[in-house]
Amino acid sequence: MALNIYTDQEIEKIRKSCKITATALNLVEETIRPGMTTLDVDNIVETYIRDHGAKPAFKGYHGFPGTVCASVNEEIVHGIPSDRVLKEGDIVGIDTGAVWQGFYSDSCRTFPVGEIAKEAQDLLAVTKESLMLGIEQFYEGNHLYTLSNTVQKCVETSGYSVVKDYAGHGIGYNLHEEPEIPNFGYPGMGLKFKKGMVVAIEPMVNLGKSKTKVLKDGWTVVTEDGQLSAHFEHTVALTKKGAEILTHG
Ligand code: MG
Ligand code: MG
Repeated sequence: MALNIYTDQEIEKIRKSCKITATALNLVEETIRPGMTTLDVDNIVETYIRDHGAKPAFKGYHGFPGTVCASVNEEIVHGIPSDRVLKEGDIVGIDTGAVWQGFYSDSCRTFPVGEIAKEAQDLLAVTKESLMLGIEQFYEGNHLYTLSNTVQKCVETSGYSVVKDYAGHGIGYNLHEEPEIPNFGYPGMGLKFKKGMVVAIEPMVNLGKSKTKVLKDGWTVVTEDGQLSAHFEHTVALTKKGAEILTHG
């Protein structure tokens, strides 16, 4: 895997890919409700992406069957869309991406289904906050693990834990590129960010302990302790104006 530096023209294409992904997630936000299945969500997103001249980035990736990863409650990432019915009070991470003219995008939001418990609302708020604080650390010359540490500190001071077995990544020509962007680390360490880098920053935050396990389907990652988990992700470019969130809703 290479670490790619993108030109303004290339970033413009990634921006378009990201716009499709973000707008598809907006559509999910508007339509998600109790009684829908995760496959219903998958169909909405796939239709939107294809109708806008792009292809789902995840479908077929290492054999993954869906356009979205739909991860409910204690599921952290990589849940397979199915006939599972979403219930009032669930939280569901919808992670998706598009490829448009050869350029990839990747974004995730964890949605409340109907009314959710205060405990779940707080978890979503902190996960989103840790993502935004991480993005603030994506500037020229800053060290990668300073960003990682910022995410970790936000999460841990709130009493939650970061998932350590999965990480963010560079993105652009490929869905996953260098560098790997963990959600924990030592400040002042790691590579220095450069203009033209494009990355997917994606805190995965557990209400309980950090440990994960993979279900028998070979994909779905869940918390080992069965407690809730949340996930937010943006594709972000480092341009001459600084960090630009390309998958803004
Ligand atoms: Mg993703
Ligand atoms: Mg990603």
